Amino acid sequence: MTALGLQQPATGGGSMKTYVVEHLDPECGPWSTLEYITIAKESTDAGAAFCLSSAPLDLDIPDSVKAVRGFNIDHRSVEDVYHDRKDRVCLLDPAAKEELKPADAEDFDVFVFGGILGDDPPRDRTSELRKKGFTGRRLGPIQMTTDTAVRVTRMVIQGKALTEIPYLDYPEIRIDEHESTEMPFRYVKDADQRPVMPEGMIDLIKKDSEKGFGELL
Ligand code: SAM
Repeated sequence: MTALGLQQPATGGGSMKTYVVEHLDPECGPWSTLEYITIAKESTDAGAAFCLSSAPLDLDIPDSVKAVRGFNIDHRSVEDVYHDRKDRVCLLDPAAKEELKPADAEDFDVFVFGGILGDDPPRDRTSELRKKGFTGRRLGPIQMTTDTAVRVTRMVIQGKALTEIPYLDYPEIRIDEHESTEMPFRYVKDADQRPVMPEGMIDLIKKDSEKGFGELL
């Protein structure tokens, strides 16, 4: 973690992009933790910045997570930080009318995501961010995990059309030889035809499989 938190972005299509997850839950559970670590690492590797915004001062984030390169935390909301350049901020919103496209790289520097648990059926908690008046873009009709939504946004902003990205919808995760569970989300498909997930997520899914997936991600 750096002490810098969110930085004011430079503007323009060639500027460094910032991926912001606005933390909207009271705690930071193990699923969110794995997702945030992955988002920080992948964003940094791609030459972009990551920040967890609206993090409560007493948010319990493990030291191992704070030590991840590129893991920035800001206690302010994205709305406060970018109040004077709201037009450069794009909210990734499952209810937006327009899909994200590569040309959006020219118009936006900051991409904001809801740091909330996925739910089935979706409860539209992204509406908390929609109220703030940012321009919204959709990533297709199916709910993604937060790390998938950031991954897909980055791929599009780097030039790939949404329709060119290989997806896996509602993959089955094998728990043991008798049992499997269906994940109610869309993922990016890797070269081995498997869903791209944070390191450690499969083990966590297996561990939590007894609880059901109403409110886990
Ligand atoms: N069910 C959730 C809700 O209540 O809105 C969706 C939560 S999703 C796990 C977390 C975040 O990923 C969303 O707030 C949104 O920013 C982004 N996201 C996920 N799927 C998306 C999609 N199809 N289009 C745009 N954004 C998406």
